[in-house]
Amino acid sequence: MRIEIVAVGTELLLGQIADTNSAWLGDRLAAAGVTSHFHQAVGDNHERITLAFRTALARSDGIIVCGGLGPTQDDITREAIADVMGVELVRNQEIVDLIAGFFQTRGRTMSANNARQADVPVGAAIIPQVMGTAPGLICPLGNKVIYAVPGVPYEMAEMFERGILPDLRARMAAAGEQSVIVSRTVRTWGASESGLAEALQGRIDALDANDAVEPDGAPAGSVTLAFLASGIEGIKVRITARAATLDAAAAVLDVEEKEVRKAIEAELGDIVFGVDDESMEVAVASQLIARGLTLGVAESLTGGLIASRLVNVPGASAWFRGGVVAYHEQVKFDVLGVPVGPVVTEAAAAAMAEGVRRATGADVGLGITGVAGPDDQEGVAPGTIFVGLSLASESTSTRALRLPGDRERVRQYGAISALDLLRRALIDLEAPSAGREA
Ligand code: ATP
Ligand code: MG
Repeated sequence: MRIEIVAVGTELLLGQIADTNSAWLGDRLAAAGVTSHFHQAVGDNHERITLAFRTALARSDGIIVCGGLGPTQDDITREAIADVMGVELVRNQEIVDLIAGFFQTRGRTMSANNARQADVPVGAAIIPQVMGTAPGLICPLGNKVIYAVPGVPYEMAEMFERGILPDLRARMAAAGEQSVIVSRTVRTWGASESGLAEALQGRIDALDANDAVEPDGAPAGSVTLAFLASGIEGIKVRITARAATLDAAAAVLDVEEKEVRKAIEAELGDIVFGVDDESMEVAVASQLIARGLTLGVAESLTGGLIASRLVNVPGASAWFRGGVVAYHEQVKFDVLGVPVGPVVTEAAAAAMAEGVRRATGADVGLGITGVAGPDDQEGVAPGTIFVGLSLASESTSTRALRLPGDRERVRQYGAISALDLLRRALIDLEAPSAGREA
């Protein structure tokens, strides 16, 4: 079943509002196993709306159109649908009465224009309105269909769930194609997209070769991999599975996630830090929690970004002791005990990590110093970062990094780089139960 979304409204084209309806519908359709190859946005113009409909009907099995069902003269979706169906619009008195009642209960009188919302193309079924004034429409065209819903997002969503989805499911069942599409993203940090693609080429080839296999009767091509670059948050590998049921799809995802992790780890090491919504700070939190360790951070150029990310994690007080924003060198000397001297050095980063561990009473101290730019500092170029890590019972380690980009990017990159170094260092620690004293 291929469904095309047509969002109606000149304000969408002008960029005055973002087309969140299409994004929402795209997500829901995919979850229901409905294919959507095209989305269109079109202004409030009769010729162009009918062109959008005809174009969509030529290449898809149906359309969901949102917007343009309102009472004003520029709301012309109903007219456009009737035109494409080749039928008249007929005013439905029951709907007129409902709309009049809607106004009455709010102590207002219905304007004559509102009656337009009761106009229904001959042959169309109605999705009764429960939240606004305009009903939705289910308009058959041969074995294809146009669903029309209001543009207001919560009205659109409610009508989709109540009126459209059941009808779509019935059509899919009649056509013998019922399936769900579910995806999961495996999140990586520190590798390039091409590096990841190389590491996963074997998996991609294997999945391609598997196209003919139909687990649980699902259609061919039931698992696919895609790469999504997410800026400083790394690169995601999205695994998409199609199967007959949600449980079957989840089982397929579980198996493929293991394969993907194995392939990545073999080529690129420990770069997977989470799945789906799990951020880098969540990954750090779970490593700390697993080892019963607490953390303190000392930040210079990141100015609290790391601490701010850490406290995004609910329950952070269990493992996060606190941080010191040691921006001026005097604060590094006085509060953190950094030896007087240059402060954009590995030695300073190490001293910051040790100092904040002492100051906060944490098991682990993380220190970061560097140059965000745009100018050099102490003769050190922008983008130069030093991270210090002081772990209980281990000597302090440091890392030097060169990060690209402007001031904002260097600070953001610096924060997540330091968190990733911490995550990896924690993983490299002895297993939680092996030899740690209480
Ligand atoms: P109404 O009956 O309320 O007039 P309508 O069907 O005529 O609804 P529009 O007038 O096109 O719908 O849109 C109503 C409001 O819904 C817009 O002002 C906008 O805020 C929101 N909206 C419309 N289309 C979209 C869209 N594609 N994505 C997100 N919001 C939208
Ligand atoms: Mg409107």
